[in-house]
Amino acid sequence: MLVVMRPPSVDSLARSLSDTGLPHPLLVEVAREAIAADRVSEAHALAAVRRRRLLVPVVNATGVLLHTNLGRAPLCHVPPLTYTNLELDLETGKRGSRQERTASLLAAATGAESAMVVNNCAAAVLLVLAALARGRPVAVSRSELVEIGGGFRVPEVMAQSGARLLEVGTTNRTRRDDFGRAVAEHDPALLLKVHQSNYRIVGFTESVPVRDMSGFGRPVIVDLGSGLLDASTPWLDGPPPSWLRGEPAVRQTLAEGAALVTFSGDKLLGGPQAGIIAGRADLVDACADHPLARAVRPGELVVAALQETLLAYLRRDAAAIPLWAMASARPEDLRARAARLGGGKVIETEALPGGGTLPGVTIPSVGVAFAGDLTEQLRAHCPPILARVIDDRTVLDLRTVLPADDEVIAEWIAQRP
Ligand SMILES: *Cc1c(COP(=O)(O)O)cnc(C)c1O
Repeated sequence: MLVVMRPPSVDSLARSLSDTGLPHPLLVEVAREAIAADRVSEAHALAAVRRRRLLVPVVNATGVLLHTNLGRAPLCHVPPLTYTNLELDLETGKRGSRQERTASLLAAATGAESAMVVNNCAAAVLLVLAALARGRPVAVSRSELVEIGGGFRVPEVMAQSGARLLEVGTTNRTRRDDFGRAVAEHDPALLLKVHQSNYRIVGFTESVPVRDMSGFGRPVIVDLGSGLLDASTPWLDGPPPSWLRGEPAVRQTLAEGAALVTFSGDKLLGGPQAGIIAGRADLVDACADHPLARAVRPGELVVAALQETLLAYLRRDAAAIPLWAMASARPEDLRARAARLGGGKVIETEALPGGGTLPGVTIPSVGVAFAGDLTEQLRAHCPPILARVIDDRTVLDLRTVLPADDEVIAEWIAQRP
């Protein structure tokens, strides 16, 4: 007797996948694909792949603290699942500002007179230039016309803002006098300094410190990018870690005379994706009054997460900021965790700050190594584990693994063939 196996109907196949937790319309897509490709028996695996294309938690064992592909700083604060007083003043019952409370916390943490929050640092720079320099020149050193990852290029942001780029000095050397001449000849609205986040110019170089730029009677804007709040890291036990040396910080840059600084929320601040403008109150107000401010304002999720991050700084509670908890973990503690994983060879590694910050800087760390490239297998684990391949070994660096995720790695090790 000849039995012809008919393919199942799309609908019944989709229904049979409902235990994957995906909503029916997505399972219908998976079922269609499986039938069309003659892979009905693999439908469950295809549904799992579809599931993993959604946003899912992953274990970052790359040793890169601020990994752009993994959302930069890990987020820990779950916003309240209810209404909030986002734009309500509870004292007066009148409309309030979504900016004021983070502004006051930022002021307490950095000494800034005022501050405001936008979607990201690129938006912060765009807004500052549009609000304070539209149609006017902005002087920037030729060594700082940078491109940060993801399409942020200073000359292009400048053009979009309506400000005019006024290049000063040379690629390798810019002096105070170069700015002096630019001010005298071109009457710039602002002097802009852009932190060389992701590259270094070495050799015969010279640049103008903020203190010297601030002597020309023009507001000095410093795009810091990475958002280290205070170079003395009062939220950490002990002195600032040596790998932070040379990284400009918000408090000190303002104290040196910057009128405004701009920085990201999800780099060394260790908070949610956001952009922060901090400094002189009159200039922050001018930014807040510009029509673009409404287009780049932060949502409630960001305001809530940023508030919790800043409160942790003010409590000097680095343990509550995952980025700092991981960044300041002692190598001996990482070694003990590595030894407890139950497999692999425990090795010394070099973790990286990442996120386009501190190029060339490494942080001593510890990991476990396995022969060969196992990264695909690790990515297929649930939850996915991301690792690096170094010298034909797969290295799982514990510096960037949340201690609670050690058991995920232990589980992966235990189930290896
Ligand atoms: C990272 C960075 C930016 C862009 O920040 P986003 O928050 O990603 O928009 C801008 N300027 C500098 C100097 C940076 O390092």
